[in-house]
Amino acid sequence: MNVYDSGRMGDVLAHHGYSLTGDADDADMVIVNTCHIREKAAEKLYSELGRFRIMKDARQAAGKTTLIAVAGCVAQAEGAEIMARAPFVDIVLGPQTYHRLPELIARAERTAASGSGVMDIEFPPESKFDHLPDAAVTSATAFLTIQEGCDKFCTFCVVPYTRGAEYSRPTSQIVAEARRLTAAGAAEITLLGQNVNAYRDADTGAGLGRLIRTLGEIDGLARLRYMTSHPADMDDDLIAAHGEIDKLMPFLHLPVQSGSDAVLARMNRRHRIDDYRRVIERLMAARGDLKLSSDFIVGFPGESDKDFDATLELATGIGFIQAYSFKYSPRPGTPAAAMTGQVPDTLKSERLAALQDVLAASQRAFNEGCDGRVMAVLFDRAGRKGGQLVGRSPYMQPVHVMAPASLMGHVTDIVITEAGANSLGGELAAGADGTEINQRRISA
Ligand code: SAH
Ligand code: SF4
Repeated sequence: MNVYDSGRMGDVLAHHGYSLTGDADDADMVIVNTCHIREKAAEKLYSELGRFRIMKDARQAAGKTTLIAVAGCVAQAEGAEIMARAPFVDIVLGPQTYHRLPELIARAERTAASGSGVMDIEFPPESKFDHLPDAAVTSATAFLTIQEGCDKFCTFCVVPYTRGAEYSRPTSQIVAEARRLTAAGAAEITLLGQNVNAYRDADTGAGLGRLIRTLGEIDGLARLRYMTSHPADMDDDLIAAHGEIDKLMPFLHLPVQSGSDAVLARMNRRHRIDDYRRVIERLMAARGDLKLSSDFIVGFPGESDKDFDATLELATGIGFIQAYSFKYSPRPGTPAAAMTGQVPDTLKSERLAALQDVLAASQRAFNEGCDGRVMAVLFDRAGRKGGQLVGRSPYMQPVHVMAPASLMGHVTDIVITEAGANSLGGELAAGADGTEINQRRISA
């Protein structure tokens, strides 16, 4: 979502004389868009700021001014601390106020001489989405935020505090944005939300399943995905949509966090392992070729060897084709940070390595099983080699193919001829002309 938010900040600023540069060292303004989810992500901010301070001083010596802004969830959680620790920062703004960037810039320019920055980390009554200009399309794959915030309060997580309460955008606004994105060249849209399947249109009560059916009718839109979903919010209609909407890709990110019921309870995850398995069974009954990815946390407070073994067993049994796994990181103000039984870092590292071995093996096994198959690939970028395009399979695997540039943005049948740990290689299938999309074939 930070990638989406950064793009939207660019859209706002494009109307105020700014354009994106690939070279931060000569930028009139730098926005560091931050993540607070784990300590490591938050720490990066201060090292980045040190670098930008040197750049700002050098530009000042050359008679140029530079605005430095910190956006995102670290700004939301630690705004005052950032101002105190890095007084050269001009603007601090949270994830819900970036539509106000132009006025913040104007205020910062007025106060710059006095050396004091401006801060806006409100949860404003207005929705930023009502005030943002149209999103620019730069690729065949686009993100579209449909839901933000979270009311679940998992005990390890800062999201409910930094992104705020659950909010769903109106369906009409989402459909209009999706139509615009498609008309501007997006062939795939990934619907985003911290808790995306808690989506509920405030007027009609429609959930994510209904929204996907509506978006599925947009001509020219070839693929839909959504993330990140919570297992407890996989309702019947959404599960049924997986079986009925061909454009909905057969790949779902469904974080489980742990394989132990005792740990899940202390995490306040609101589901048990049996519930998770049952959701998967229902999904598979709706769409037999569906594959899953997941998130895991190891070393949550009180996690015993037995708890961890249950996680390994779950990961082995389900065979996720991709996964993110993390050492538990205590976050200030969250209940788990104050729990007894904090796990030593060395043990967390051991467990992470053991889990990652299992996860990497099932990812590799899936990739190897793709060798020789025909998969539909949506090309969305140029490869490193001349004449090469890179795209995504229905399962999000990057696929490298020697292919004409005219296939960029098209879903094309590819015979897979190489399977690596993280990506695939292939060749154009006979007759692949980039126009036929045979959904049954692409995912079978
Ligand atoms: N809403 C999603 C997850 C959003 S956060 C869900 O409920 O599944 C993305 C991932 O970061 C989480 O799934 C979790 O695995 C990880 N994460 C969140 N807080 C963490 C923490 N304190 N320490 C380690 N990992 C964490
Ligand atoms: Fe965080 Fe996801 Fe739990 Fe919400 S549901 S508190 S975003 S981990």
